[in-house]
Amino acid sequence: MLSATSIAARVRSGEFDPQDVTEEAIARLQERDLEVHAYLDPDIERARQLADRVAETLRRGDDPGRLAGVPISLKDNMAVHGATLTAGSKILEGYRAPYDSFVAQRLIAEGAVLLGRTNLDEFAMGASTENSAYGPTRNPWDTDRVPGGSSGGSAAAVAAGIVPVALGSETGGSIRQPAALCGITGFKPTFGSVSRRGLVAFGSSLDVIGPLAAHAQDAALVYDVIAGHDPADATTWTGTRPSATTEKADLEGLRIGIPEEFLDEAVDSRVLESVSTAIKTLEEGGAITKVIPKGALPSMHHSIPVYYLVACSEASSNLARFDGMHFGPTSESKDTLDLLARYCATRADLFGPEVRRRIALGTFALSAGYADAWYKKSLSVRRLILNEFTALFGDYDLLAGPTSPFGAFKIGERSQDAYSMYLCDLLTAPACLAGLPSVSVPCGLARKGTYKGLPVGLSLTGPAGQDHRVLAAARAFEAIRGTPERSPIHGDDA
Ligand code: GLN
Repeated sequence: MLSATSIAARVRSGEFDPQDVTEEAIARLQERDLEVHAYLDPDIERARQLADRVAETLRRGDDPGRLAGVPISLKDNMAVHGATLTAGSKILEGYRAPYDSFVAQRLIAEGAVLLGRTNLDEFAMGASTENSAYGPTRNPWDTDRVPGGSSGGSAAAVAAGIVPVALGSETGGSIRQPAALCGITGFKPTFGSVSRRGLVAFGSSLDVIGPLAAHAQDAALVYDVIAGHDPADATTWTGTRPSATTEKADLEGLRIGIPEEFLDEAVDSRVLESVSTAIKTLEEGGAITKVIPKGALPSMHHSIPVYYLVACSEASSNLARFDGMHFGPTSESKDTLDLLARYCATRADLFGPEVRRRIALGTFALSAGYADAWYKKSLSVRRLILNEFTALFGDYDLLAGPTSPFGAFKIGERSQDAYSMYLCDLLTAPACLAGLPSVSVPCGLARKGTYKGLPVGLSLTGPAGQDHRVLAAARAFEAIRGTPERSPIHGDDA
């Protein structure tokens, strides 16, 4: 499949017809999604309408935008006016969004053709997409395996070659981890670079929207389109963001540190092997790399407990609005007019087990008498993690390491053991807690072992606000390594 960058260029020049491009993407979706189940709603009519709009703009001789005719899919926790918005949950089954999210507005304004909404772990809680109430998504590299999560539908849609770019959201790793497991690029912007308006809230101090793409250049292009201040989201910072597309893609002289904490013993040895080859590639490009001895990020090993306390606390509050009255269906299991009983029945019946577990944990962590010991304490450690990263960025431009401790695991392998699933976030949660921009780029396939032949991701993390530099480094890395390997379902169609 062509990159978004070249599709847009050819549609703009008149070489490609946006309606043809859209029909081809629809045909790929209809054929390939039978195997991967990346989509909850393909929403084909909307795609056709948007393609007609681009064609009409071109006929008038007006500028169709930077993403003219590019098919892009959104994770089903981002509002698209009039479209279903389930967040992967039964509690929002049939609910339709009353307005467009900020990111949908931005994409449409630049001529993108929104094609469907993708599967996710319920309310973005998970790392395998198995927590979706609508069934799991499968990894296009091996359909017995998970695509990662929670943006597993978006990652699988791109890795299967259905669309060149999809949007995901990340709270603790949900863009980068599925990108790594599916062999594509995934970028988590600095917290507050991109507006959360119209994103179903999970952990409001952590949630960020970002692109998953087959090519780093496309992740940069889509980032440029969706990043920006939004008066309706007070956590977006004001001012313009430097362009990630035009920033020089050059590794020459870049100081890249590899903290030993990222090479934890939990990381699979074959994953580490691919990552060390990737470090050599960075050096070939002129980067100066150095392993930073253990001790520079002493609080990092608290990341998982701190992340789960903060994220669940915020989730318990954010999800209080789902009561069966304001949004979505009401459970009919209790034949009663008692309002409280109806709330309880709806929440007990229509939230899945992982969501209920997190609401219980978060409610406990925020409750009187425990909030100081759990919630406030975790905020203090979160600050320490941020301070330790900030100190490292005095000496290094970027930090590198594996994105995920392991490759794509088998469906069912971790789903019965919440803690082993939480370990998936070992290497991604720290940058989320610190609000830093971080990208996962494909760095080859594991050569041996459990994950043989499956993709491995290299993570590059930068200081807050340096999104353009992180993406430029990803572009430079891909330029040296060459086009990333493609999944068997993707094949090598042009
Ligand atoms: N796997 C993490 C969790 O389950 C991260 C999810 C996310 O980033 N949305 O919470």
